[in-house]
Amino acid sequence: MLRTNTCGELTIKNVSEVVTLCGWVQRTRELGAMTFVDLRDRYGITQLVFNVDSNPALFEEAKKLGREFVVKASGKVAERSSKNLKMPTGEIEILIEKIEILNGSLTPPFTIENETDGGEELRMKYRYLDLRRNIVREGLELRHRLALETRNYLDKQKFLEVETPVLIKSTPEGARDFVVPSRMNQGQFYALPQSPQTFKQLLMVAGFDRYYQIVKCFRDEDLRADRQPEFSQIDCEMSFVERADILSMFEGLTKHLFKTVKGIDIPALPHMTYADAAKYYGNDKPDTRFEMKFVELKSPLEGGVRRTGDVDIVSGKGFKVFDDAQLVVGVCAKGGGEYTRKQLDELTEFVKRPQVGATGLVYVRYNSDGTLKSSVDKFYNEEELKKWAAAFNAQPGDLMLVLAGETNKTRKALSELRLEMGTRLGLRDKNKFSCLWVVDFPLLEWNEEINRWSAMHHPFTSPLNEDMLLFESDPGKVRANAYDMVINGVEIGGGSIRIHNKELQQKMFECLGFTPKEAQEQFGFLMNAFEYGAPPHGGIALGFDRLCSLFGGSDSIRDFIAFPKNNSGRDVMIDAPSAIDQNQLKELGISI
Ligand code: ASP
Repeated sequence: MLRTNTCGELTIKNVSEVVTLCGWVQRTRELGAMTFVDLRDRYGITQLVFNVDSNPALFEEAKKLGREFVVKASGKVAERSSKNLKMPTGEIEILIEKIEILNGSLTPPFTIENETDGGEELRMKYRYLDLRRNIVREGLELRHRLALETRNYLDKQKFLEVETPVLIKSTPEGARDFVVPSRMNQGQFYALPQSPQTFKQLLMVAGFDRYYQIVKCFRDEDLRADRQPEFSQIDCEMSFVERADILSMFEGLTKHLFKTVKGIDIPALPHMTYADAAKYYGNDKPDTRFEMKFVELKSPLEGGVRRTGDVDIVSGKGFKVFDDAQLVVGVCAKGGGEYTRKQLDELTEFVKRPQVGATGLVYVRYNSDGTLKSSVDKFYNEEELKKWAAAFNAQPGDLMLVLAGETNKTRKALSELRLEMGTRLGLRDKNKFSCLWVVDFPLLEWNEEINRWSAMHHPFTSPLNEDMLLFESDPGKVRANAYDMVINGVEIGGGSIRIHNKELQQKMFECLGFTPKEAQEQFGFLMNAFEYGAPPHGGIALGFDRLCSLFGGSDSIRDFIAFPKNNSGRDVMIDAPSAIDQNQLKELGISI
């Protein structure tokens, strides 16, 4: 080893030891007869001291050290006169007797500090320098820890980690495939896996019983802060299980991770049906760190019929917007009653943004003196508004915000408004965690573009037994034996009990608009396997990058990926994707 110690471990206990450290020059400070150098490595920072009186030549040498030079320095550990108790090594310094520059460095294009002056694009171009920053390194350390604890837990539960291929045939997960041309089979392409879905099912047919893999998946879709074209999943599958078994196994994993990595005990995960998530949160991944549930003032009719529990306390007062709406629904922001006109205008602007999509916002302020003031006073008198307040369970000092319109659109818009209010009222604390299972998703969703049913999860998901009969008569009503794990409004994972019988799988493909020939061509391998003793099975995949960002308290998964891509899917450091050579194209039989 070139060093005896790291830059993070020497303390007052090591005083008088002679040590050799290696690392990068964080900064140098010249103070008269002394030069101080902060030497940094992965483990921390240690102060080196050069004294003109004890060694003038070395003192001169130290002046040559620039930022990010790599050096090897030897000397004696000494107690500092002015201590820095914020740093683990802050009580000591090294009186340098020998220094060797192992490599110089150009001046880095941004400061290697937690609060850096480098913009995102520049930092990504020089990601190897960005990775030297503590905060970025810590993100990857967290990732390592989560991966390790995942493996520990699953290993104890007898899961085998099995690698599956990367050059495969399309596995539909609802995104576009990345494809790779084959030189040996010209005109043919591999697809990169959107997930190892079919392989893990085949491993169950093979009798592996409990499989997992921390695996790269590839999806060609528009990118956001929590999406990358290649990302990692904790991918799992189990045989001879029912939904409850899978939920408890992975609830166990989640608890284990929170406990071992964050020292937090999380309570049992509640189950919420998809229908309730839509009705009370307008969202299949509700942020349950705070209540603010939706309250309907006018419930949507189903098939023109009012069901028990449905309400309408707003129609027939001459307010056309509400009279014409399928749904009138709102939230009560506790303590929002002090909102000024300006703040309310901001909220109206917010809901009208195209991403949110509402046409307007109705508010009712419950003043602290008990009076009510609304933006629809023309149509609803105090007595009417009192009924609203009762429905909202509002108290003086609260603010009720109401949207109206077509059911799904209105729910979606109110969901955005609820989250916005949650943020404004400081209810979305990054250090608080609220986990739940969302269950009983619809099996199918109508795809307007292609005028057909699409699988809401994927085509291998089993319908709920009790809904099997609806498959022929009313496919839209069939619920899936599928589940999502949601934490703090983020979909952390999802999975399902699978179809394990050929006929049902065929029926599913048929329902999704595949001809028998197409189904056989694309998924014959799976349906054939089902004829050789496929066990009942099911599984789940957790988004590993998202889990890291949740644990790390960041909104961006990029902070937890060593070499991420930007929003256009580019790696600006290695400059990929890029054009390829004419000869390569020729070999592949491709012309552009
Ligand atoms: N393959 C699914 C996904 O990537 C997860 C699963 O059903 O196990 O979302």
